[in-house]
Amino acid sequence: MTDFLPYGRQEISEQDIEAVVAALRAPMITQGPRVAEFEKAFADYVGAKHAVAVSSGTAALHTAASAAGIGPGDRVAVPPITFASSANCALFQGAEPVFADISLDTFNVDPANVAAVGPLKAAVPVSMAGLPADIDGVRAAAPGAVIIEDGCHSLGAHRNGKPVGGPGGADLTCFSLHPLKHITTGEGGVVTTESDEFAEHMRLFRTHGIDKQNAEPESWEGGWYMEMKLLGFNYRITDFQCALGSSQLKNIEAWVVRRNEIAAEYREKLAGIEGLALPPEAPNGSRHGYHLFVVRVLESVERRLAVFEGLREAGIGVQVHYIPIYRMPHYRSLGYTADGFDNSELYYRQAISLPIFPGMNSGDVDRVVAELKRLLTA
Ligand SMILES: *Cc1c(COP(=O)(O)O)cnc(C)c1O
Repeated sequence: MTDFLPYGRQEISEQDIEAVVAALRAPMITQGPRVAEFEKAFADYVGAKHAVAVSSGTAALHTAASAAGIGPGDRVAVPPITFASSANCALFQGAEPVFADISLDTFNVDPANVAAVGPLKAAVPVSMAGLPADIDGVRAAAPGAVIIEDGCHSLGAHRNGKPVGGPGGADLTCFSLHPLKHITTGEGGVVTTESDEFAEHMRLFRTHGIDKQNAEPESWEGGWYMEMKLLGFNYRITDFQCALGSSQLKNIEAWVVRRNEIAAEYREKLAGIEGLALPPEAPNGSRHGYHLFVVRVLESVERRLAVFEGLREAGIGVQVHYIPIYRMPHYRSLGYTADGFDNSELYYRQAISLPIFPGMNSGDVDRVVAELKRLLTA
């Protein structure tokens, strides 16, 4: 019996383990110095002015939505093909997610569909699978809206030569540090921004809205004094998680390069197979993050199911990313339907995510390719 090959897997080195152990021996295991150290290293990597670390990618999206001033009555454009959190962050703030269909050329939201949904407070373009979304296009399609990029698949990706999450991109960019993503802290997330105002809001929001340093002098009542300035959450990340994050970050370049090598190998070995579509490539001057390698089985939904089940039976941990969010029972209960989302529906009937992670080797790629070829013609 050959080993199970997951679609994604973290890499944890002895160095990572030592960094976490050292952090656990330090006096402060949360709210200590390692959080700011990690934020500095992360901000430097993507070239951002600010990085605010929080407890998950979902917390990052919620924190960004609060900074953007999203509230009751606001409309927020989101593509249907993404993890639920991309849309949930609007619901958390009492706002209305408005779905805008994807393009089958990118699997990202089509700016024309953002323009079609009307006035927006914000848009949450998702850089799906690691292919940078067209932020300029979305900005032009939603004049005045705050652009929150869901970059959870895209740490290390480049848009027009610039890192996702840095200047020239969205107003706020959210990352996840879940073990399936590019680097991990177990659970964790980061928001990057160029805005001092957004960064200040987010640092308050992640810690109950409580400010110990900047109380008004006239309200000072003694050494215990602090102020809750806004309704925040406890979205803090710990020091030992950030120690892991800083250690992981040292490998990000090599890992993104490796993901691109695996993708190139898949492309070469899967080229020209009838009934199989390969995922969109990054345009010239951009770099794909390849969190996912999504192929599409074109023949029928029955064939896709057979290929999916066959790969799983062969010990290959494929997945479908994603069930369109409007199909989720919670969203259906809010009145959402599949009407008008032809591209998302077609994508959902065809997609399969193949294994891709830095620890894979050519033998693993060959194994996936051989099974896929067999099942497509079986
Ligand atoms: C992983 C992911 C999230 C949520 O991140 P968590 O850290 O699991 O909360 C949000 N959006 C997308 C696109 C993701 O892939």
